[in-house]
Amino acid sequence: MNPLLRRDTLPCFEQINTAHISPAINKIIHENKKIIKEIELDNEEPNWSNFVSRLEKCDEKLSRVWSQIVHLNSVMNNNKLRNTYNKNLIKITTYYSELGQNESIYQKFEQLNKRIDQFNKIQQKIIKDEILGFKLGGVGLPKIKKKEYKEIKNELSKLSAKFEENLLDSINKYNLLISDKEKIKGIPEDILNNAKNKARAAKKQGWLFTLDFPSYVPVQQYADDRQLRKDLYRAYSVKASELGDLKFDNTKVIQQIIKLKANLAHLLGYKNYAEMALQTRMANTSAEVITFLLDLANKSKLFAKKDMDDLIKIGKTFGINNVEAWDIAYLSEKLKNHKFNFSENDIKQYFPDNKILEGLFKVAKKIYGLKFQQIKAEIWHADVRFFEIKDQFNKTIGQFYLDLYARKNKRSGAWMDEAISKYNFDNDSALPVAFLTCNFTPPLKGQPSLLKHDEVITLFHEFGHGLHHLLTEINEYTVSGIKGVEWDAVELPSQFMENFCWEWSVIKDMSEHIETKESMPKSLFTKLLKSKNFQSGMQTLRQIEFSLFDIKLHSEFDAKNDNFMNLLERVRDDIAVIRPPKWNRFPHSFSHIFAGGYAAGYYSYKWAEVLSADAYSKFEEIGVLSKEAGDQFRKEILSKGGSRSALESFIAFRGREPSINPLLKHHGLKD
Ligand code: ZN
Repeated sequence: MNPLLRRDTLPCFEQINTAHISPAINKIIHENKKIIKEIELDNEEPNWSNFVSRLEKCDEKLSRVWSQIVHLNSVMNNNKLRNTYNKNLIKITTYYSELGQNESIYQKFEQLNKRIDQFNKIQQKIIKDEILGFKLGGVGLPKIKKKEYKEIKNELSKLSAKFEENLLDSINKYNLLISDKEKIKGIPEDILNNAKNKARAAKKQGWLFTLDFPSYVPVQQYADDRQLRKDLYRAYSVKASELGDLKFDNTKVIQQIIKLKANLAHLLGYKNYAEMALQTRMANTSAEVITFLLDLANKSKLFAKKDMDDLIKIGKTFGINNVEAWDIAYLSEKLKNHKFNFSENDIKQYFPDNKILEGLFKVAKKIYGLKFQQIKAEIWHADVRFFEIKDQFNKTIGQFYLDLYARKNKRSGAWMDEAISKYNFDNDSALPVAFLTCNFTPPLKGQPSLLKHDEVITLFHEFGHGLHHLLTEINEYTVSGIKGVEWDAVELPSQFMENFCWEWSVIKDMSEHIETKESMPKSLFTKLLKSKNFQSGMQTLRQIEFSLFDIKLHSEFDAKNDNFMNLLERVRDDIAVIRPPKWNRFPHSFSHIFAGGYAAGYYSYKWAEVLSADAYSKFEEIGVLSKEAGDQFRKEILSKGGSRSALESFIAFRGREPSINPLLKHHGLKD
C-alpha cells in the first residue's frame, strides 16, 4: 500500500519516497471530489452529519497527507522532491479554489445559517467562518472572474514556492573558506569546530562559513576582523537578490506577488490586499494596525536612540568611528559584556539542549500537569526525536516530532506545523500530532548542542505553538488546535511561553554547566536578567519597521507601484534609528510575508504580544509556575482553539479586555 495513504498509523517517514506523492494526492482528490458531488446532489435538508462532517472528513484526509509532503519538502529538500511538490501544489491549490467557489456547497451553508439557533456555539462559529471563507474564495463572482481568481491563486502558490526555493538555493550555494588563523580571531571554539568540520566535509583545509544562522550570527557577534564581518554580512544581505547570484533573484517574484495579491483583492471588491486579509483578523482595518504600530514606535523611539548612542560610544573605544551594519552585533556583544559583565558564550555553557528540553517539560508539568516521554516512531533524519504527551491521569493527549538542528537542504528559521489535527467523527477519531522544527547548532560528536539564551526562547516559543495545537479539547476538525484562530492572535501562546525563560525558578532547574555539571549561579542569572531589555527599544523599532513595510506594501502597492525597496526606505526614514547600507536586500528573504502566511500580518507579533504579556501578568500576580493560573490558561485559551473568537477567550481568561501596559513594562519601555 502507498505509505502516504495509511491512516492506521503515524506518518511512515521511513517508507515514503517521492514516487508515492502524486498517486496519493490524485487518489484523495478524486475520492473527495466524488463525495463533494454526492453532497451537492443530496436533496435532503443539510445538517451537521450529512453535510459539514462529510466535508470536514474530506479536508482532514487531504490535509494529513499533504502536511507530510510539505514538511519533507521543507526539511529534506532535493530536486526530485521539489519538482513533485510543485506539481502537486498546483493540484491542491486548484482543488481548494474550486471548493471555495462551489455555489451549491455555499448555499447549503447559507441554509444552515438561516437556522443558526439550532446549532451549538462552536458549530455557529464554524458556519460563520465558512460563509466568510466562501465569500473570500470568490463564490459570488461571475464565471469568468472565478476563473481569473483560480489562476491568480495558482500563480501565487507557484511564486511562494519559488521564493522559498531561491532563498534556500542562495543560502546553500554560498560558503566562505578561511585558512588564515588571524582572520578568525574572537570567534568561540565550538563555532570554529563546526566550521572546521564543514571544511573537512568539503575536503578543504581551514574553516568554512555559511549563511545559516548558527554559522552566520556568531561571526557577526564575535569576529574581530571587520572585513570578515562585512564580507559575510554583505553575502547574507544580498541573498536571493539581483546583487547576488542572478539565478536566485527574488525581485520579480516579489513584484509579481504584490501585483497578484492586489488583483485578487480588487476582484473581490476590496480596495487592497490588506483590507481583504483583515476580514478574518482581530484588527479591523490597516489604519488601525498602522496607528497601533506608530503609537508603539513613538513609545520606543527615545529608548532606541539611546541604544544607538551607546553603540556609537563603545564603537569609538574599539577604533570604529563610523558604526556600520556589520558592526552592530559585534559592538552589541561588547557593550553587553561591558554593561552586564558576561558574554553570551558564558551563558551557553549552562544550556545543553537535553537539559533545556527537560526543563521545558518540567514547566509544562508544573503549570499544566503534563508528562512527556520519548518514544519510537518513523523519522526523516537521524536527528529527529518523537515524544508523547500524557495528562495527570496518564491519558495520552498528543505527540510531536522535534527536529532541532540546522543542516543543508533544510529551510531556515523555526516553526510549528500540524501533522495530524484532533477530530472526532462518528466512527473515526485522532489525537493531535505536531512538527516542531528549529535550526540550532548541530552537536559535535559525543557532545550536546549548546543553546544560546535566544535559542532557548525560540524553543519555548515553538513549543507554545505546539501546545496550542496539542492541548486542544475541540473535536470539530475545522476549529481544533490553531485552526480557525485569527492570525493576529496566533502568536499569543507562543510568545507567552517565552516569559518562562526569564524566571530564576525555571533557569535554576534547567541549567547545567557542560563541564562542572553545576546549575547556573544566581549571580550570572541576575546579570542575564538585567540584560533582558538590552536594546529593546532598537529591537522593537526593527519589528515595527518590518510590520509597517508589510502592511503598507499590501495596502498601497500594486502593478503600477511596485518599487518595494523605495517603500522600505520611506518606512526607515520615518522610524529607523539604524540605517542598513543601500545594498541591503532584506525583502528578498522576507519569507514570512512572501512564502509564509504573514502577508499583511507581520504586525501580528506585536499585536499578539499585547495579549501574551497581559496574559503572563496574571501569572506574575498569582505565581509564575502556578497550576491554578496554568489550568485557567489551558482551559480558556489553549484548549479552545478557534472555537470562539480570540478576544472572547482572552476576556474569559483575564476577566477584562487586553491592556498594552504589561508589554511596555516587560520591555522596559516605560519610565
Ligand atoms: Zn510564532
